Order: sequence, then structure tokens, then C-alpha cells
Amino acid sequence: MEATRAGTGCGACKELVGQILDWASGGGAEHDPSHHYYVPGVPLAKPELIEAVRRMHLTSVSSVFAALAEGVEDAGSKVGLASLLRMLWGAEYTDERDARFINDRVHANIQNDGTFSVVPQIPGGVTSPQQLRAIADVADKYQVPMVKITGGQRIDLLGVKKDDLPHVWTDLGMPSGHAYGKSFRTCKTCVGTEFCRYGLGDSTTLGIRIEKRFQGIESPGKLKLAVAGCPRNCSEAMIKDVGAVAVEGGRWEIYVGGAGGSHVRKGDILCVVDTHDEVLALTGRFMQYYREHARYLERTYGFVERVGIDRIRAVVLDDVDGTAARLDAAMQASVDAYVDPWQEGQRPVTTNQFNSVIPASS
Ligand code: SF4
Repeated sequence: MEATRAGTGCGACKELVGQILDWASGGGAEHDPSHHYYVPGVPLAKPELIEAVRRMHLTSVSSVFAALAEGVEDAGSKVGLASLLRMLWGAEYTDERDARFINDRVHANIQNDGTFSVVPQIPGGVTSPQQLRAIADVADKYQVPMVKITGGQRIDLLGVKKDDLPHVWTDLGMPSGHAYGKSFRTCKTCVGTEFCRYGLGDSTTLGIRIEKRFQGIESPGKLKLAVAGCPRNCSEAMIKDVGAVAVEGGRWEIYVGGAGGSHVRKGDILCVVDTHDEVLALTGRFMQYYREHARYLERTYGFVERVGIDRIRAVVLDDVDGTAARLDAAMQASVDAYVDPWQEGQRPVTTNQFNSVIPASS
């Protein structure tokens, strides 16, 4: 990577570069041993790390370094560790702001010119005249240079200054849409039975329920979801991390491990179920299994291929490990611990959280 820059951009070719190295060296390529660690600064794979964190009740990033890395704090490992601890401990997690990437410190996505994008939550892509007016007023008041409809059915205010973020959130009066960070992003929907003449299922209602339940939950990689009201798949549910597609008889196919980004993959069918409640329960259980077993930054398409859909079905549907109830309870705890991060706009966590210029004295 140092010599050629291969794999150092978006990282999509890393797997391929590894295969080329293996091929060129006749299978004897030396990979970095830390490749198997969850994060490079703590010499443990994810299952052992989780076991140690639980057993020793380590709720902060610094306590993990102290107990498991001989006190050596590795800056490049902090964000990945924070993600894991937030997932494991929910409300019990001890937040240390230096373990956050800038996007997670200010709950917005930094752009190439140092300004931020603000994406309020619009569950299921269903909005109202009042919300549209609030967004338009904010765009005028803060002279937002670009207002854009996103691929995830939301409205993106691009070019917002860091110091304006808390005021923009207050004036919008809408919760965060989590268009930053490694977490549940959005659940795209199509019209479904409510208005579409091809509709076989109520995709909009299901998509709104999914988005409201899983909003903001932490995960090893982004989680993009979608629901389609029939196999015409207008919301692209078959190429999402998790998707639900209505089929004949009012049933729902659940897909996992799809991707439509730099890597394109049709999801694997996890199962077919009858009700919205079953979709919510099984997608939640799958996502919790993924949260607990995926490597940091490993998207579901890599995870599902690595673990195998048969093994995932065995755990999620047949409960071969006897973990289903625990996975459901862990996901419920994360759902219950959710707090809209934009509330920090009124109560900054640090004095300079939203200052664009840090005073020299601080
Ligand atoms: S996926 Fe089917 S139900 Fe949904 S909008 Fe397209 S045609 Fe209509």
C-alpha cells in the first residue's frame, strides 16, 4: 500500500490487492498479524475482546487500553473501540470525547471545504408542509449554499458552518437523520399498497416503523435499509444491508448483505415471514448478530459472505447457539438507550464543541 497507494482511497480494492499478493507470492504473502485484531492497538480478535470487556466490565476506551494493551493508548484504535463499547454497554457506556471522529463529535458530516452537511430525520421519506417550511426557512436564514434531495429520500443542507450547527438544529425542530458515523442510516421506502396499484404490502408503514425503532444504533459499518411493496423493488431493497420485499399473499422476503455502492451485491434471502412484527424482530436479531461479530468497518456484504448465509440462518432462525433471546434483549437495550444527539445543540458537552476557532487559551 505504501509503494503503490493501492487500497488507501475508499478501500474497496483491499480484498483484491490481498489476493494479488497471495497469488504473486504463491500463497506465502505475510499479512500484518494485527489484521486479525478488532483494532490494531489491542491484540485481541473481536470475540475475545468482547469477552474480556464484559468480564472486566470495561465501559470506557481508556479502561480497555489500561486493562488489555498495557496502558498504551493507540489513537487509530479509539474510534473502533468506542463503537464496540457503545454497542455493548448502551446507556452504561462511559463517553470520552477524544475517542470520537469529528463527525461523531458534532453529529454532522464534514465536507471537503470544512463545512458540514445537516440531514434531519424524515422516516420513510414522508414529510409534511410544516417540515418543508422549517427546512426552507433554515436554508434562507443560514444562507445554506446547497439544498439537496439525497439518495436515501431525505433533504441535505450542505455547507453549514460548524458554529451554526446547534442553531440550525434548534430552528429545524427535527431529530438527527444520522447521515454520518457508522450506524443505522435510513430505511428507504416505496409507496406500497397505500397508493401504488402494484403494491402487495404496506411498505411505507413498515419502513417508518423500522427507522423509528433502529434510529442511530451503533454498528461496525453503515447500515442502509429499504422496504419495497412488491418485487419491482422501486426502493432497491434487494441491494441494501437489510431489505424487506412484499410478495404474493402479503408475505415479506427479508434480504441481508446487499450492497449498491463501490461493491454491488444482491442480498441473500434470510427468510419469508407474514407480518411487520416478524420483520422487525428478525431484522433486529440479524443486525445484533452482525454488530457483535463483524470486524470494525466490515459492511454486511462482506460479513454475510465471510460467515455464510446458512450459518446466519441457523443462528437467527433456528437458534442453534441458543442466543436468540439474548440477541433480542441486547438490541432492545440499544433501542431503549437511544437519545437524539442533536439535543446536545442546547447543552454542548464541551465548551468548544461547536466553535470553529478554538481559543488559544483552551
Ligand atoms: S416496488 Fe412495487 S409497490 Fe413499491 S412503488 Fe414499486 S411497483 Fe409500487
